[in-house]
Amino acid sequence: MTFKASVLTLYPEMFPGALGLSLAGRALEAGTWSLEAIQIRDFATDKHRTVDDTPAGGGAGMVMRADVLARAIDHASSPGDARPRLLMSPRGKPLTQARVRELAVGPGAVILCGRFEGVDQRLIEARGLEEVSIGDFILSGGEPAALVLLDAVVRLLPGVMGNAVSGEEESFENGLLEHPHYTRPQEFEGRAIPEVLTSGNHARIAKWRRSESERLTGERRPDLLTAPPGLPRK
Ligand code: SAH
Repeated sequence: MTFKASVLTLYPEMFPGALGLSLAGRALEAGTWSLEAIQIRDFATDKHRTVDDTPAGGGAGMVMRADVLARAIDHASSPGDARPRLLMSPRGKPLTQARVRELAVGPGAVILCGRFEGVDQRLIEARGLEEVSIGDFILSGGEPAALVLLDAVVRLLPGVMGNAVSGEEESFENGLLEHPHYTRPQEFEGRAIPEVLTSGNHARIAKWRRSESERLTGERRPDLLTAPPGLPRK
């Protein structure tokens, strides 16, 4: 089954962008996933192809119109379409590896990229959009956020990652940050690889990695130690 992504954007030229290269690009070429970038402006009806207007109640900036966006969404996603409809938004639920995994086993996603101050609230309600944030900071548009989300999903699609084991040991997969990595040379600017890693003792290595994971998580992300693994944090 092909994972189908439909991205609604004012900048379709931004796609596939980085996802046209490397693992994701090869998978796109191989047909493991497909991507259509839909120009929202094509669903405007006036001669200036207007997609935004001033905010009700006043204030700075512009808001994307519900009617134009609804036409674009209805074009991308017919009533029988089982794909979730996502709106990239700093007000959304923070994206987690657990949600990424769910999306990767599904049929795809319809992804709306906001611009300006955001989109009319009635559109979010009327089309049942799931708001997804990629972090507590503000981007100028949803496109980079959509690329981030799709990158995370596509690498999990069957056959995309050469070494499937590495996916399971990654940060967040077990509720911990990953242990540090080392490779040759044996000595770099006076720093040696930790002795245990060159010992050949697999039980000791596994124990060391586990304890390094726990130490790093405690130092950097103590919130992960108290939240049930995979569940979104507050
Ligand atoms: N006025 C809004 C920010 C608008 S930023 C607010 O204060 O909440 C413009 C667009 O960029 C948003 O509509 C959204 O699609 C996208 N965007 C910005 N930051 C984002 C983030 N952290 N995660 C996902 N999308 C984001």
